[in-house]
Amino acid sequence: MARGECNCRAVQFEIDADLSDVYVCHCSICRRATGSNGIAVVLVPNERLRWITGLEHVATWKKPDGDWEMRFCRICGSPVPGENDPKTMFVPAGSIVSGAESLRVSHHVWVGSKAAWDEIGDSGRQHVEGFRAGPS
Ligand SMILES: [Zn+2]
Ligand SMILES: [Zn+2]
Repeated sequence: MARGECNCRAVQFEIDADLSDVYVCHCSICRRATGSNGIAVVLVPNERLRWITGLEHVATWKKPDGDWEMRFCRICGSPVPGENDPKTMFVPAGSIVSGAESLRVSHHVWVGSKAAWDEIGDSGRQHVEGFRAGPS
């Protein structure tokens, strides 16, 4: 079980699963969305994520020419869980406030287009382009 929240705590959620893998996307879209070297996320099946409060404060921005989207708290701007694919949610790893102890970076994606100053120093597998976790 893990719990997450945005900076202003208007949006809170819990995850009913043992978390292990963090995926870091280094693409330019994720970099602009976070202002950092990309975004670190945990993937969870839809039915494992429960909104505790604040779903009405969640805003979505969809990239007009693609299937990329970002959800964030419209009060404080923190990234919040969004749709990864129809069956899976992505949860920003930094939004998890308890239950994150067992998390480790397992995959880096879009390493081929990472920022020049972005130096990867952990043992996660590096993928030049995108990588989707298997259906299981
Ligand atoms: Zn907030
Ligand atoms: Zn990305």
